[in-house]
Amino acid sequence: GCTAQDVIAALRAGAATVAEHRDELIGLDRAIGDADHGENMDRGFRAVVAKVDTAAPETPGAVLKLCATVLISTVGGASGPLYGTAFLRAAAAVGDETDLDGAAVAKAIKAGLDGVVARGKAVAEDKTMVDALIPAVEAAKNAAESGEGPAKVLAAAADAAHQGAQATEPLVARKGRASYLGERSAGHIDPGARSTALLLTAFAEAAG
Ligand code: ADP
Ligand code: MG
Ligand code: MG
Repeated sequence: GCTAQDVIAALRAGAATVAEHRDELIGLDRAIGDADHGENMDRGFRAVVAKVDTAAPETPGAVLKLCATVLISTVGGASGPLYGTAFLRAAAAVGDETDLDGAAVAKAIKAGLDGVVARGKAVAEDKTMVDALIPAVEAAKNAAESGEGPAKVLAAAADAAHQGAQATEPLVARKGRASYLGERSAGHIDPGARSTALLLTAFAEAAG
C-alpha cells in the first residue's frame, strides 16, 4: 500500500528530481517561455519538503493537500496554481484513506488531470502538462484494473507521461506563455509536460 510516509517519501524524491533537472527545465522554458520553470519547480518542491518535515501530516490526503497549498503559495507562474490544483484534487480523491491501493493512486492521478483541466482549460495537443497527464491517467487506469499496486500503477503512468511529453515536441502551443510564439513554439518539448513526467518517475521509484 501507500501510506502518508510513502507519499512524503515520494514528494522528497520528486523534489530531488526537480533539483537535478532544474537546468534542463530552465532550458526547455527558455526555448518557448521565460526560462523560469526549473527555478519555479525547484523553489516549490524545496518548500514542500521543508513543510512536510515540520507539519508531519498523518494521511496520504493530508500530505497531498499540504503539498498543494505550499505549491500554490511558493511557485508563482502558471505552473504553481496548476500543480497546486492537481495535488488538491488528488487529495480530495483519496479522502481520509490511510493506505492507498493501486486503484486509489490511479484515481488520484485522474483527479489531478481533471483539476489541471478545470483550472487551465487546456485540451489534448495544446502543448502543456495535460499532454503528459492524459496518457498517464489512461496507463494508470489500465494498470490498476489489472490489479497492480501503487508502484506499478505509478511506473505505468510515468512511462506514458514520458511518451506524452516527448510527443509535445512538434506541437504548436495553444495555451500558456508558449502560445505567444505561435508556430515558433514547435520543435521544443513543453517544460511542464517534462516536469510532470519526471515527477511521476520519481514517485514510481520511491514507491517501488
Ligand atoms: P510561466 O509560464 O508562468 O512562466 P512555468 O514556466 O512555471 O510558468 O510553467 C509553464 C508550464 O505551465 C508550461 O510548460 C505548461 O506545461 C504549463 N501550462 C501553462 N498554461 C497552462 C494551461 N492553461 N493548462 C495546462 N498547463 C499549462
Ligand atoms: Mg516559465
Ligand atoms: Mg514565469
